[in-house]
Amino acid sequence: MPDKSLGIMGGTFNPIHFGHLAAAEAAREAFGLERVIFVPSGRPPHKDSRQVVAPEHRYLMTLLATLDNPSFEVSRLEIDRPGPSFTIDTLRQLRDQFGESAQLFFVTGADAVAELPKWRDYEQIRALAQIIAVTRPGYPLPVGEGFLDRAPGADHSAGGQKPILTLEVPSVAISSHDLRRRVRLGLSLRYLIPDPVRDYIYRNRLYLDQGREEGT
Ligand code: ATP
Ligand code: MG
Repeated sequence: MPDKSLGIMGGTFNPIHFGHLAAAEAAREAFGLERVIFVPSGRPPHKDSRQVVAPEHRYLMTLLATLDNPSFEVSRLEIDRPGPSFTIDTLRQLRDQFGESAQLFFVTGADAVAELPKWRDYEQIRALAQIIAVTRPGYPLPVGEGFLDRAPGADHSAGGQKPILTLEVPSVAISSHDLRRRVRLGLSLRYLIPDPVRDYIYRNRLYLDQGREEGT
């Protein structure tokens, strides 16, 4: 039997939107992943906590958004783990859970991949998981310095560290930051996020009374 190949889609998901879902689905298809596990962060170390709604809200919205895709799952690993959410701890836990034969693919957008070298234990993240960097409008994929650039199917057996794989996904210029701004201003969320997530935001009156965010 072939090894399990699991996609891991980390994020704050504050809230989850079609950009995240399109990226995960494209990675699943392109790399033949058995499933993609969405991992909402508990306490993201790099985000202003005043703008981030409670972990349970983000978890439930992620669940609502992914329910109709049998290949998508949501993990509570980071939500339930005390302390700041570091990706390396999550990858280690998933490796323990699924065993050595599982292949882990960490899916990340072009903006986040540029920040990756600053993440805790970056080298070990690279060793534990194959990173897939997906395109995102407005953020060029970083290239050069041995950092990345092999498309799926390319021969990267030349030794050394596994390259980061790049994947062109259907362009969706949506961000959670813009969605929060839209809620505050009473603008439409239609066709940007799944309807159940939109209903959840309105029903729970999320994102209405937060202070202005930088750049809005
Ligand atoms: P915020 O605006 O609050 O930073 P976001 O829209 O960037 O939110 P995150 O939860 O920060 O969403 O992102 C989680 C992951 O999804 C990151 O790897 C990010 O690069 C990727 N991602 C987010 N939006 C898109 C998009 N529209 N297209 C491709 N990848 C995306
Ligand atoms: Mg972001």
